Amino acid sequence: MLYVDVKYINMISHHFEKFKKKNDYLWNVRCPFCGDSRKNLNKMRGYFFRKDNNMIYKCHNCGFGASMNTVLKELAPTTHKEYCLEKFGENENKNWEPKGANWTPNGHKLFDDKPVEPPKFTPKFSLFDKLVDAVDTLPYDHEAVQYVQSRNIPNDKWDRLYYIDNIKNIVQLNDKYTNSIVTEEPRLVIPFFDQNGQLMSVSLRAMRGETLRYILVKIKEDAPTVFGLDKVDKSKPISIVEGPIDSLFLENSIACAGTSFNKIEQLNLDRDKITVVFDNQPRNADVVKMVEKYVDLDYNVVIWPETIVQKDINDMVNDGIDVRDVISSNTHSGLTAKFLLNQWKKC
Ligand SMILES: [Zn+2]
Repeated sequence: MLYVDVKYINMISHHFEKFKKKNDYLWNVRCPFCGDSRKNLNKMRGYFFRKDNNMIYKCHNCGFGASMNTVLKELAPTTHKEYCLEKFGENENKNWEPKGANWTPNGHKLFDDKPVEPPKFTPKFSLFDKLVDAVDTLPYDHEAVQYVQSRNIPNDKWDRLYYIDNIKNIVQLNDKYTNSIVTEEPRLVIPFFDQNGQLMSVSLRAMRGETLRYILVKIKEDAPTVFGLDKVDKSKPISIVEGPIDSLFLENSIACAGTSFNKIEQLNLDRDKITVVFDNQPRNADVVKMVEKYVDLDYNVVIWPETIVQKDINDMVNDGIDVRDVISSNTHSGLTAKFLLNQWKKC
């Protein structure tokens, strides 16, 4: 029934002076219950976030926390009736309320005649969510949207990429970088989450032609920088590529950025399900060495045919090549892979 809550959050968006979707299950709003800050009209301290199968409201200014049921009852009584019908199958729901949601800092009951209890949960939004905006929540003419569009990244993957308006703010995730990140330009943010959705590191991609194209900020020092671990389905075929953005063009794909390729053995993936896809750089000794390594380890490896001149997946897509098709017809292992590899490499 989570979708019902999500639907009604969108339906009442006009009740908030400011309303911003941060990700699939997180909205940031200007709190209509306390008015948020009167001095700073941009303050937004109210949040809708997911708690199990429901969306919960919580304001970090007044402390008010409530279920969708209560929020709707207060803000939009007519919509509330529709909600009850859709969610509970009845005209009015008197019984359902998450425990501890109806609570105020002063100990006053807010709307329902229920015992006062402090909240028993902590909202599941993070500092990361506060620092960045998911690209799929930005206006169409926004710089970051224009950027992902110019690279032909599919729309349904825009929620995997984020935008930060000042790169310097990222040091709040790890103050070790305070002295090394000194510029203030906006950047595209590529987050590396682990299987449990914990943020491990972020890569900051230049959008305005800065010399340093990528800046890596590690949050967990020794974690491998693998993109897509939070989304990958280990029971299905997996393709492993070098670049996070390249992985967005393939089905069920992860990217081992930087030196992380050496760590794919640690990811506990079923080797038979993996296809290793390196960039098409037959003159780059490091890349050739890596392809050789995974052919020798008997992985399924893509050996790019001579007809492909583009150096990576994104370039192929930009030139109108059906990359998935090329990959599936050029994946090899064992002796065939060895033979084709020797034809492919130019160094
Ligand atoms: Zn409030």
